[in-house]
Amino acid sequence: MGRALIIGAGGVAGVVIHKCCQNSEVFEEICIASRTKSKCDAYAEQLKDKTKTRITTAQVDADNVEQLIALIEQYKPQIVINVALPYQDLTIMDACLATKVNYMDTANYEPLDTAKFEYKWQWAYRERFEKAGITALLGSGFDPGVTGVFSAYAMKHHFDEIHYIDILDCNGGDHGYPFATNFNPEINIREVSANGSYIENGKWVETKPMEIKREYDFDEVGKKDMYLLHHEELESLALNIKGIKRIRFFMTFGQSYLTHLKCLEDVGMTSIEPIDFEGKKIVPLQFLKAVLPDPASLGPRTVGKTNIGCIFQGVKDGKEKTYYLYNVCDHQACYREVGSQAISYTTGVPAMIGAMMLLTGKWNKPGVYNIEEFDPDPFMEALNKWGLPWRENFNPVLVP
Ligand code: NDP
Repeated sequence: MGRALIIGAGGVAGVVIHKCCQNSEVFEEICIASRTKSKCDAYAEQLKDKTKTRITTAQVDADNVEQLIALIEQYKPQIVINVALPYQDLTIMDACLATKVNYMDTANYEPLDTAKFEYKWQWAYRERFEKAGITALLGSGFDPGVTGVFSAYAMKHHFDEIHYIDILDCNGGDHGYPFATNFNPEINIREVSANGSYIENGKWVETKPMEIKREYDFDEVGKKDMYLLHHEELESLALNIKGIKRIRFFMTFGQSYLTHLKCLEDVGMTSIEPIDFEGKKIVPLQFLKAVLPDPASLGPRTVGKTNIGCIFQGVKDGKEKTYYLYNVCDHQACYREVGSQAISYTTGVPAMIGAMMLLTGKWNKPGVYNIEEFDPDPFMEALNKWGLPWRENFNPVLVP
């Protein structure tokens, strides 16, 4: 049916590639293109005898719009799946506009020199995408991604108005290292060392990093400490879900992770300000990334489960109602299936599904959209089919 260009060949890309190859009817052809071509070739080699999908590879610098345009014109995909880094979102969107090809990503644009998660840069492309008659689907990972689909599904089937959403992201996995991040270390540390924030009555309320802590008893994982973080989907959900009074995002962290992070922060290793080192400018956080374990290597050693979902409180037919939608994913089961841990898996599966929604024409509408702006039903069905089945609880314990 279709041809997709996948940009990036890291941990998340690995899962997207495996999942596209399992779904050859939709993804007849894929091209894996990234900065380091040998990583693309390694995935192609791994999968070539296991799939009907025809795989090609290419080298591309996704910071360079001209290179991207040349690659798109040569390969002629119907969609570009951006699973490189958030810094490349705008250049890839520019290339899609120039070639009139649909675009999809899993994380919002972030300038390299400011750790600030906002949709304003990507939303500014709305009119140009509409005029070009192409669709940009923003944030088709798990969070953002499935959390937006869950919200749209809750709104469509269970509520007249949703007043409160708590997004709970729990990783009960253990990789055995004192300190490692489950996805790109630079992006992960920028996210968790930033101030926290949530939206209440239409306004952002800012907190210090890790200032708000709660304990929650997660299905199949058990009790974990979780901390309020700023997260990009809060911004779009607050606009797109009817009646929202407050929306918060919590993520679990173990004590060892927090102690190491604090120490690295205290010595300046998490800074994104360039410093002079032996006659050269280096960014401490980028240097730290180079010495930490590669997230793609955590697969074989990570055991335990993730539990990610949303607790909704609102009103249906004049009555108050609560509803919890979540997914539990097992790190080792993911590793056996696609060779990676559950964090990459829970991001890569929804990325494949989002691309499928566009390729099969289920979600096409010209413009730039966040995921909750589409009909959630075909996506929810696909989650059950492609490895991320969801569960419901109509009487969940609430987060104080
Ligand atoms: P990795 O660091 O493992 O992979 C990133 C890939 O992008 C690498 O292959 C890298 O190439 C490539 N890349 C970086 N810069 C360029 C460039 N200029 N041109 C071409 N390729 C480039 O990251 P992850 O796979 O962990 O994360 C991928 C994305 O997924 C990130 O945007 C992350 O924020 C997002 N994410 C989203 C989540 C969600 O739930 N929504 C959860 C987790 C991650 P090289 O190999 O040469 O370094």
